[in-house]
Amino acid sequence: MEMQGRTPEWVPRKGGGTYATTVRDGVEGGHDGMPDGPSGQGVPESGGVRRRMLSIDEYVEGVRSGDRAILGRAITLIESNAPAHVSLAQEVLTQLLPSTGHSLRVGITGVPGVGKSTFIEALGCQLTASGHRVAVLTIDPSSSVTRGSVLGDKTRMERLARDPQCFIRPSPSGGTLGGVTRKTRESILVCEAAGFDVILVETVGVGQSEIVVRSMVDFFLLLLITGAGDELQGIKKGVMELADAVVINKADGENRVRAEVLRADTARVLHYFAPATEGWISPVLTCSALDGDGIAGVWNAAEDFRSSATQRGVLQQRRNLQMLDWMHSMIDECLRSHFATDPDVLQLLPDIERAVKAGSITVAHAAEQLLSTYERRHQRTSS
Ligand code: GDP
Repeated sequence: MEMQGRTPEWVPRKGGGTYATTVRDGVEGGHDGMPDGPSGQGVPESGGVRRRMLSIDEYVEGVRSGDRAILGRAITLIESNAPAHVSLAQEVLTQLLPSTGHSLRVGITGVPGVGKSTFIEALGCQLTASGHRVAVLTIDPSSSVTRGSVLGDKTRMERLARDPQCFIRPSPSGGTLGGVTRKTRESILVCEAAGFDVILVETVGVGQSEIVVRSMVDFFLLLLITGAGDELQGIKKGVMELADAVVINKADGENRVRAEVLRADTARVLHYFAPATEGWISPVLTCSALDGDGIAGVWNAAEDFRSSATQRGVLQQRRNLQMLDWMHSMIDECLRSHFATDPDVLQLLPDIERAVKAGSITVAHAAEQLLSTYERRHQRTSS
């Protein structure tokens, strides 16, 4: 992919501000412009010029009033790894928390080529036409390795990107999988505080990204197409269990009949799985993202899900569990990172690894020695 590893160039935008040329106009990007630079100095821009850092109140008020530029900057702040930005972002988030939680969070997955971006564009445009405000976030854990989002270079969602009622933001890049996940979760909250009532989270990467998206949305949608090979069947088997609705896309022209056959087959298979959401039978639908047929039906299913899951308390329960899981995974990641960078552990590690490889120490004993070294140091520093 051409863009991977490339740093965006910052160019002036009409009416002030800047945008990254590697991200399509209308698609709000900028995470690449805020690396681990000096803290608290503002956002680096072209020629090293820095933009004034906004105050907490300016971020909070700007986001709450739906100011798109400030919303974009708030997400850029969240995506920054600089320590001063991290604490400022947490202050901003804390103040925004009371304004969050009012959207329907929808995850959309499917193999590349299934029609995710065409579907999101069709759904997003229908939703904004009926008065909704739609934020589209993408999550691509692979960009944490390549440090580049694929979204910017692709001609995707052009119509939606120009829609003033829609906000599109590519996947954050850089950092660990946990880091990318946290940034997207926090971006969901900021978009909600800015008044977006539908948040669509799209998986761009393959593999772990479906699980990651499932862990942050209310309603999880799997797109399938006919004629895909064994590889797809393998993927869909695991993911199908997580889906609150399965949609056979490209049900148009000559493919309409085949799509209906796949719909019926999929419904039969799904029947044997435990429900993805307690008390909800995941429907299997067909649509054509290209023609727009069936898109309204998919949204009806999402709304039915919302009212049924809300009524039974399942939606709130899911969100509560997601937040607790999120907290525990942050603790795990933080502890792991402290452990892995502890000087005493680092000093001891080569000897222990050699001993494990030579078979002169058991693995359990080796882990215990490293952990107690870490604990001893921690006790010394905290006393
Ligand atoms: P993604 O990789 O999952 O985001 O897929 P895209 O949205 O980029 O779509 C891949 C290709 O499938 C593009 O050429 C689309 O025009 C085409 N496509 C998407 N949806 C439909 C559909 O409903 N019907 C037909 N016939 N083609 C579609």
